[in-house]
Amino acid sequence: MQRFDGLWKSKRTNVIECFDCQRKQEVSGAATSTICPSCSAHIDLSNYKITTSFSRSIRTKGEVYVTTKGDLSSSSVRCQRAIIEGRLRGNLDCAGAIIINTSGKIPGRLSASELIVEKRSEVQFFRRVRVGNIEIRGRMLGEIVANGMVTIRKNGALEGSVVAKAINVEKGGTFSGQIVVGRADLQQAELLPGESSTVSKPTEESLNLAPPLPAT
Ligand SMILES: [Zn+2]
Repeated sequence: MQRFDGLWKSKRTNVIECFDCQRKQEVSGAATSTICPSCSAHIDLSNYKITTSFSRSIRTKGEVYVTTKGDLSSSSVRCQRAIIEGRLRGNLDCAGAIIINTSGKIPGRLSASELIVEKRSEVQFFRRVRVGNIEIRGRMLGEIVANGMVTIRKNGALEGSVVAKAINVEKGGTFSGQIVVGRADLQQAELLPGESSTVSKPTEESLNLAPPLPAT
């Protein structure tokens, strides 16, 4: 594991949220850690580059980059953004985007506001993926719960089940499986179990009963 400058263009300042109390604060783009002004928790802001096997947990408001030789097996990784070019065996939770640029089985739990499965990637997710939006440029097998849009780009392919606000299959993209779209109430119950009192949680059956998406 190494510290690195990050792949996203760094801003002069960033607004980050405390992991513990969610208090927001502005920090310098060059800072590597800070203290929450509300609860005094230490907040890591550094970027992690994983170039070999790594299994310790990470909790940062910076980035995580797993290179082609990297093997991230931590049970808990929380970060702002991540790029996966190597192996990912543990759980990954990003406030921002996750870019998957690798092939193989992904056994852990993933959640992010945005997930991109890159061209030439062929991935199989064993656990349900929870996202805001997802864009599939390569091939993906798995189950998606999106409170926004699922986009399958030209030459992209998705096989599995989807609960989303909307789905967009571009010409040349393929989707096969079950889908429930435009059911914000369902997703709400899906995404926030226990916080919805009036809507019952959808069952796996409701996914299976949904009509298949017409091929475009
Ligand atoms: Zn705090």
